[in-house]
Amino acid sequence: MIRYDFHMHCSFSGDSVTPPEEQIEEAIRLGAEGICFTDHMDYSYPMAKESGTDFEFDVDDYYRRMSELRDRYRGRLEILIGIEYGLRNEPDLIGEMQEKYGRLNDEYDLDFTIGSTHCLEYTDPFYAVPYWVGRTPDEGLETYFRAVAENAKNYDCYDSSGHYDYAVRYVPASDAWKGPACYDPVKYMDITDEFLKTLIHKGKALECNTAGIKYGLGTTHPHELVLKRYLELGGELLTIGSDGHKPEHIFYDFKTTEDYLKNIGFKYYTIYRRHKPEFIRL
Ligand SMILES: [Zn+2]
Ligand SMILES: [Zn+2]
Repeated sequence: MIRYDFHMHCSFSGDSVTPPEEQIEEAIRLGAEGICFTDHMDYSYPMAKESGTDFEFDVDDYYRRMSELRDRYRGRLEILIGIEYGLRNEPDLIGEMQEKYGRLNDEYDLDFTIGSTHCLEYTDPFYAVPYWVGRTPDEGLETYFRAVAENAKNYDCYDSSGHYDYAVRYVPASDAWKGPACYDPVKYMDITDEFLKTLIHKGKALECNTAGIKYGLGTTHPHELVLKRYLELGGELLTIGSDGHKPEHIFYDFKTTEDYLKNIGFKYYTIYRRHKPEFIRL
C-alpha cells in the first residue's frame, strides 16, 4: 500500500477551503503513514481577477502552522512541509522566479517542493480564452509541453516535476478534440524525452499525480506511456500525489495506482525529508 501522499492542498492554497486538520484526520482514518502539504505558490499569477485569487500565501504563517501540526500529530501521522511552485518560462519572469523560489528554499526548512507549470504566455490554459483561441489542440499541447521542458531545465528550486501533461484536462471540446481520449502522448515524445532526460540528469523526480483519474482522463499525470519512457531512460525518482484539495480526494485511487505502477515496472516510489529522497518499496 502507498502510505504517503506527496501532493495535497489545504486552505493556504487560493483554490482550497479545507482546514489542514481535515486533511490530516482523513489521512489518519485511511491508515496513512505520512502526508506532505504542498500549497500553491504562483508568483505573478496572471489570472488573479478571473480566479479571485493570486495563489500566494504568507509563508511565515504557513510554516509556523504546519510545524505546530507536525508536532501535535507526531506518532500518529508524519506531516511533511512542502510547497508547489508555479514555474514560468516567459523570458522576463525567469530570473525573478528563480530568485523568489530560491529564497523560499533558503529561508524555510522545507521537506519537499514540486515544480509545476500552471501558466505560460502570461495566461493560464485552465481558461479557454485566450490560451486555446486560434490554435489547434495539438499546437496548444505542444506549446505547453515545451514550457514544462524549459522550466525543468531552467529551475533548480524543485524536487519533483508536477503533473506533466495536466493541460490535457483543459483542451476545449471541438471537432478536433472530443475529449481526453484524443490525447496521444506519442505525438509529443520528442519534447517529453528532452524533459525526462533533464530530470534524470539533474537528479529531479517525476511526479505520478492521480488527479488525472479523478478528472475522468482514464490515466494519471503523466500518461502511462510517459511513465514507461521515464523508466526506459533510467529514471528512478518517482513521487506520488493525489493533488487533493479536499479530504475525499487525498490518496485518490492509490490502490489501483500501486498495481498500475508495478505493472509499468516501478519497484519503488520516493518520499522526501528536507529535500533528501528516500525510496519505499511499492
Ligand atoms: Zn498544480
Ligand atoms: Zn497541486
